[in-house]
Amino acid sequence: MLAKASSCAVVGLEGALVEVEVDISFGGLPVFTIVGLPDAAVNEAKERVRAAVKNSGAIFPMKRITVNLAPADLRKEGPAYDLPIAIAVLMASEQIPAPSVTGAVASAEGALFLGELSLDGGLRHTHGILPMVALAQERHIASVYVPAEDAPEAALVEGVTVYPVESLAQLIAHLHGERPITPYAPDESLLDADDGVLYPFDLADVRGQEHVKRALEVAASGAHNMLMSGPPGSGKTLIARTLPSVLPRLTLSEALDVTKIYSVSGMISAAQPLVRQRPFRSPHHTTSHAGLVGGGRFPRPGEISLAHRGVLFLDELPEFGQNALEVLRQPLEDHVVTISRAQGSVTFPANFMMVAAMNPCPCGFAGDPTRECTCSPSSVARYQKRISGPLLDRIDIHVEVPRVEYEKLTDRRLGETSADVRARVLGARDRQTQRFAGSPRTTTNAEMGPAEVRRYCDLEATAQPLMRAAAQRLQLSARAFHRVLKVARTIADLAGAETIGAPHLAEALQYRPRVDVG
Ligand SMILES: [Zn+2]
Repeated sequence: MLAKASSCAVVGLEGALVEVEVDISFGGLPVFTIVGLPDAAVNEAKERVRAAVKNSGAIFPMKRITVNLAPADLRKEGPAYDLPIAIAVLMASEQIPAPSVTGAVASAEGALFLGELSLDGGLRHTHGILPMVALAQERHIASVYVPAEDAPEAALVEGVTVYPVESLAQLIAHLHGERPITPYAPDESLLDADDGVLYPFDLADVRGQEHVKRALEVAASGAHNMLMSGPPGSGKTLIARTLPSVLPRLTLSEALDVTKIYSVSGMISAAQPLVRQRPFRSPHHTTSHAGLVGGGRFPRPGEISLAHRGVLFLDELPEFGQNALEVLRQPLEDHVVTISRAQGSVTFPANFMMVAAMNPCPCGFAGDPTRECTCSPSSVARYQKRISGPLLDRIDIHVEVPRVEYEKLTDRRLGETSADVRARVLGARDRQTQRFAGSPRTTTNAEMGPAEVRRYCDLEATAQPLMRAAAQRLQLSARAFHRVLKVARTIADLAGAETIGAPHLAEALQYRPRVDVG
């Protein structure tokens, strides 16, 4: 007797159909063989399916059972195939109805079965539900059976009926038509506008540091990467943490993209199936290469993809080492990261704003009015040299963060809130959207190439002498020059100005690097 059930694999962030075929034959000793799964996973799946079937009031056939997961060349991993294997075994042994040997039961036809079984027959939370259900939608598959816990996530996809399954026994009764499972009713409000999203850190929480907050506003407006330099305890981390709250809110389509990344990473909960906040990721400098950019035998997203559409914060930047920083160059350029494997490469999105922080010197007190720096000039130079030049080249805004005086720390007056600042950021972003409407690759000022800088960064006549003077006195390289112009463009956008005036340029020059870069 042969039976089939459909399921799904996830490769990168994409679902791929998997057919589970089960053949049961008589004669010889009872054997249970699974082909098409990596070795280690096979035995575990066999034990779970056998126990789950027995503990669900069904009979595990003591016959020759062969399970084939097709296509064979697709890399399948993980326990998500437990449920379709169990269903196909029960169909092949005629314990749940199947209209013909090749067809499936009416209610199992045109359905995907997804989920890991526990030994008692319960269904467990399974990673990657969202991309799998998205595939069902794409292939016009009418319904999906998912672990009850994952139903809210599955229901983010429109047009697919989601059956929340608590246990194999419950699903058997459903397929018999005895006790139908009620399809999950999606929470429509989830997909509504997200005006209520609250961020844990607000700019109003930052005391003093007005010029740093201004730099953050400029960075957010033009999507410029930013480097903060200052002594320990000056609040660099808190300021970085407020950045997601001043960026434009995630659109629904952006939110779904981010949610897919968190889904395959096993970081989605039933309570919050949709990621609504812009991510903030702060990997430690000891994070492995794979942890940072993604990797593993079955490639998983790294920190730069978990930061997609949000902020990647690199604290103590010089500690990250040349290699770690070198791998960020390409993603910063392309907004994606490609992980190559013998069986094909996988691409994850990685469009993030980078905020980095560093001490001014190894001891942290260079330039501090109250504490003396104990570092030798050569150790300071070595410390700054640890940052890769090409990476610094992608950071448009450098700002110094001094320690805040005690009076300002105890000032009870609240500063501007993130919502106030975000309103101005949105205005500047609107101008950029109009500016780059005809160019598919560029959406923000930070992404402008040399040709676009020439085209869009016109200086007013009054700003020309300042530019000439700055070029001579500061000896800016051509690239440094472009960075200044891009930031000046953003400052002019914030001011609602068509052309870049002297005050816009003067402010942009303040954000040029203090660390030695080309
Ligand atoms: Zn020092």
